[in-house]
Amino acid sequence: RRKKMVERVTALMGTPETIRNIGIVAHIDHGKTTLSDNLLGGAGMISKELAGKQLFMDSDEEEQARGITIDASNVSMVHEYEGKEYLINLIDTPGHVDFGGDVTRAMRAVDGAVVVIDAVEGTMPQTETVLRQALREHVKPVLFINKVDRLINELQVDSQEMQVRLGKLIDHVNKLIKGMNEERYKAGWKVDAAAGTVAFGSALYNWAISVPMMKKTGISFNDVYDYCKKEDMKALADKCPLHEVVNDMVVRFLPNPLQAQKGRVAAIWHGDKELPIAKAMMSADASADLTFMVTDISMDPHAGEVATGRLFSGSLTRGMEVYVSGAAKKNRIQQVGIFMGPERLEVEKIPAGNIAAVTGLKDAIVGSTVTTLENMTPFESIKHGSEPVVTVAVEAKHMKDLPKLVEVLRQVAKEDPTLRITLDEETGEHLMAGMGELHLEVIAHRIERDKGVEITTTPPLVVYRETIRGNAGPVEGKSPNRHNRFYVEIEPIEPEVVELIRNGDISMNMPELERREKLMAAGMSKDQAKGIADIYESNIYIDMTKGIQYLNETMELILEGFQEVMKAGPLSREPCMGIKVKLVDAKLHEDAVHRGPAQVIPASRQAIQAAMLMAGDTLLEPYQKVFIQVPQDQMGGATKEIQGRRGIIMDMHTEGDTTVIESRAPVAALFGFAGDIRSATEGRAMWSTEFAGFETLPTNLLGEVVGAIRQRKGLKKDIPQASDYLSM
Ligand code: GDP
Repeated sequence: RRKKMVERVTALMGTPETIRNIGIVAHIDHGKTTLSDNLLGGAGMISKELAGKQLFMDSDEEEQARGITIDASNVSMVHEYEGKEYLINLIDTPGHVDFGGDVTRAMRAVDGAVVVIDAVEGTMPQTETVLRQALREHVKPVLFINKVDRLINELQVDSQEMQVRLGKLIDHVNKLIKGMNEERYKAGWKVDAAAGTVAFGSALYNWAISVPMMKKTGISFNDVYDYCKKEDMKALADKCPLHEVVNDMVVRFLPNPLQAQKGRVAAIWHGDKELPIAKAMMSADASADLTFMVTDISMDPHAGEVATGRLFSGSLTRGMEVYVSGAAKKNRIQQVGIFMGPERLEVEKIPAGNIAAVTGLKDAIVGSTVTTLENMTPFESIKHGSEPVVTVAVEAKHMKDLPKLVEVLRQVAKEDPTLRITLDEETGEHLMAGMGELHLEVIAHRIERDKGVEITTTPPLVVYRETIRGNAGPVEGKSPNRHNRFYVEIEPIEPEVVELIRNGDISMNMPELERREKLMAAGMSKDQAKGIADIYESNIYIDMTKGIQYLNETMELILEGFQEVMKAGPLSREPCMGIKVKLVDAKLHEDAVHRGPAQVIPASRQAIQAAMLMAGDTLLEPYQKVFIQVPQDQMGGATKEIQGRRGIIMDMHTEGDTTVIESRAPVAALFGFAGDIRSATEGRAMWSTEFAGFETLPTNLLGEVVGAIRQRKGLKKDIPQASDYLSM
């Protein structure tokens, strides 16, 4: 039977029209895991008895123990619709906000998303986040309203009230879609019950209904209500099985790779659209050059490193030699495979439009472009909704494990692209930066349990950002031999431009003209927009000079100096953000020997460092949104916890006897929150956090925070002055 399933899957893989690549996204606890399991059960991928009982997608032990899904993994299933078979490739996405980055990369691999919402709770903050991530990646949504049984049996609403509630929920989702991407909304991406892009039901009890299904079965809204009310849900599940309704909706309304790739490629690849490779990707041409984007890397005890990703053009076969973006040498593909449940099945060949797993890509990281073309413009890097804002220092418990620790850290960074591992050169410490306290705890646990290295970690610290308050310059930077001079001006980047960079809408990969137009539309002047020399994190270097000899051949070194400062600013050696450096004049020695790296890099660097200090260097601190669900009588304890942490309550509403609190607070004040909220509410609060951007550190805290950072990093106590960089 299994062999037959493999045969059917491989046959369907070859025709893009019969493929749907999808993800299921939801706020935690809204029922994503239950839905996935039941879809698989219904498709005969796991036994019906097991469906719903076993957390099928959560192959990681720890995920089961904690009840959250951390790693994205894949399954493929076969679904019959109107007499034809379809292959649905389902990518799992994590349900916990501290792992928000993973949702974005899963979205990179798929074309459509089933957005699951709890009918009682309605849209929650994370629903908005995942929806936004989907739209940004040009992934089309359909809606599944789950836990409808609760409306009837817990809230005891009548049939009329139920319709009103569901209608309101759908309206609200459409308002969100419209607000996030009006263009897509107008192009027909709103969700619409009458059209069939909304289904509702109960994943737990294995039934669902949609308008097309009502028409097909003759079951009315009131019938559904009565079945539920009589707790005769088993009969309902027989008449309107969940997997059939949801998979029908997927097949009918989510695009196949041929339909999807045109729009998706335009959104995630900024190369020349006239090139043959652009056309090949847009038409999912299986016989063209290979283009594959890696969206996940995991370790398999037998096969080693497995890279999973989306195949946009060409076909993957064993033994193929490919270029990996950023790597010097070609890699050789060893195995190619597809997923069924947690198992990976080796196949001969995978054509364009599919999600594939390969081994042998030793230079690949999450986000790598893999291709048979020598000089392909890579895909845009994956933009995560959040940034690493918390860091811990990691040490091996036993000295002898140090080499192994270095290797393991490299490995976890590869598996989780939202993690940033750095070596602090001054202290020799390994620093691990992640999205939150919980994120780092999970990784530390993984290092010890899966990778077998005992470690100690320091308490978590906030990663701040350096930025400037005003303008400065021109400021001169001199090379040690005094023969090379750079004059820079500095100013904050326009907020709209920062937004463009953060969303991945502009980059150094795109044609110059296209970038210039986007920048000008965001408010940058033409003479600046046409001189962009580098975009590094959310900082920009602009060459405003004209006709300076030798400048072009020196630019790479100048930019190296720029990047060094952006990685570690002069105030506290924290990363920089929102800084625009304009090179307005330069003098260069005519002999290349006298303008090597040792001369140019420090000159470029010091001009920027001095200018930043003159422009009012300051710190931004990261904030998190904190969402708390708590029984009404425990609400007081919960709000006090937030207010005691420089936090503010933004919204509060009560649904049944649960109060939902939306608040925001600085990351620095949130350490230890898990334990404190537990004691403040007798363990009855459910909460989650989400990255909420940066805000200027209050002036009264600046001195103290900078002092503590400098001391920790072994820097001189006194804050540097611009003159420290100028007098040399
Ligand atoms: P996830 O965090 O989104 O993966 O959510 P889960 O699938 O783990 O479900 C969270 C909880 O909701 C579990 O206790 C499920 O049993 C329950 N649940 C899921 N679907 C339904 C449903 O349709 N009705 C009811 N009453 N409970 C459900």
